[in-house]
Amino acid sequence: MKFCVIILCSIGLSCTRSQEQLPVKGEEWILPAPPKEIEEKILAEFPGAMRMSVFADTMIRYVGKKYGVQPASMLLGTSTCVDDIIYTKDFHAHPEIKGPFHLGGLAGLPFTGISGLEAFAHHIPEEGAMILLVEPHIGISAQKGWGTVLRHGQEEASSCCGALIGAINSLAGGSLTGEITEEDYQEDKIGAIALRHGDEIKKAALPSLAFTRIMSAEAEEQIMSYVSKVKLAHIRYIFIITGVLINTDFQYADYQYVEHFMVFDVARNTFVEDLHRPFSKPI
Ligand SMILES: [Zn+2]
Repeated sequence: MKFCVIILCSIGLSCTRSQEQLPVKGEEWILPAPPKEIEEKILAEFPGAMRMSVFADTMIRYVGKKYGVQPASMLLGTSTCVDDIIYTKDFHAHPEIKGPFHLGGLAGLPFTGISGLEAFAHHIPEEGAMILLVEPHIGISAQKGWGTVLRHGQEEASSCCGALIGAINSLAGGSLTGEITEEDYQEDKIGAIALRHGDEIKKAALPSLAFTRIMSAEAEEQIMSYVSKVKLAHIRYIFIITGVLINTDFQYADYQYVEHFMVFDVARNTFVEDLHRPFSKPI
C-alpha cells in the first residue's frame, strides 16, 4: 500500500497530500519538495537531479523493465557518507529492497574496500542483483547556500559534507600535509585528495561544489576497481549508480543526481550498459 502511494505520487497521477504539506504519520519518508528557489539552484548545478523517492521509483522501474529484476531480489549497498542525515531521510521508501549494506565512510568513499564488497556480495539473494549507490553528498540550505544544511533541532545551518568542508578549510589554511595517520585515517585520505586537486578547488567559485564533484569521480574510480576484483558467481547483475546526493534542510526531500548508471552482467563478465546522466525525467 505504501509502495503504491509512492509510485502514484512519483508519476504525478494522484497523491494523498500535496507537496507542501508535512508528511502524515507513517509516511515520514515522503518529504515535501523544498522551496522553488532551492530546487532551481539544485537543478542549475545538477541537471536532472530528482527527489530521492522519485529516483528510487524510476530506477526500480527501469531495472525491472529492462533486466527483469524485482525489488525483492535486490540488495542495496551504499557508499555514501556516514552523516546521519542521509540514513534518516533517504532509504525508507522501499522496504522490500534489502539493505543497505554500508560500504562507505566519510564523504562516501568506499572505505570498506574489496573485503567490504565481497562480504556484501555474499548477502545477495540467489540470482539477485547488487545495487551499489556510491557517491559523496553536499547540502544546500536556505540560510547559507551550498555546503551547508539545516539539521533537525538546530537553528543555524552547518557544514555538509563536514568532511569535505574540513579538508577545504585545511587546504586554504595551508595545514594539509598529505600524511595518512591511524587516528584520523579517513579524513587524512580525503585531505590527500584535496591536496592533489588543490589548485582546482582553490580557484573554484564554490570550492564545496568543486570538491564534491572531484570526490564523486574518485569514488567511482575506486568502486569500479573493487568490483573487477570480487567473485560474484551467484548473482545476475550489478547496478552501479554514481553521482551526488544533495541534502536540503531537514524538513524537505533530498535529491539524487546520477552521473553514471552502469550495469555489469555477471554471467557474461562484462558491462552491458553505461549511461551518462540518465533518468533526467521520472519514468
Ligand atoms: Zn558527509
